[in-house]
Amino acid sequence: MRNILVVRGEWEKAQADYAAAVKLQPESAWRPLHKRVVALAKELSKTIAADAVPCSRCGGEPIGLRHVRGDLPRLGKPTYRHVYEIGCVSCHDTDKDDRRGMAETPRMGSGAELDKLAEKTAKEAVADWNAKNAPPVGKDAPRES
Ligand SMILES: [Zn+2]
Repeated sequence: MRNILVVRGEWEKAQADYAAAVKLQPESAWRPLHKRVVALAKELSKTIAADAVPCSRCGGEPIGLRHVRGDLPRLGKPTYRHVYEIGCVSCHDTDKDDRRGMAETPRMGSGAELDKLAEKTAKEAVADWNAKNAPPVGKDAPRES
């Protein structure tokens, strides 16, 4: 599995290449660039959600997301945090129990500082998801008499 920041960097570059091409070039030129954006977005999701167990409700493969949250005080410098989320697209809207895996960085002043915590925080979100979506323990174990 590749590093989250490497995949994210390639995805951001692919988005910029696509955005530039779609304005000026024919569809035959930008269509492959669009496919690359989609493929890298899927890889980024899988990279964030690496080692996540299947959804305990539907058995589907969970996705991984990163949200950027700004905390903007009336006075002083803004701070930011990255929130990593592991979830099931199929079950999200109908699930009464919130089984998403969540983890967030501390509040910091720069994206570069936050990025140093990307792998660690994503792993924490996966651990949270895995704890909430673990298969039932002892289901097939022999009963004690
Ligand atoms: Zn599901």
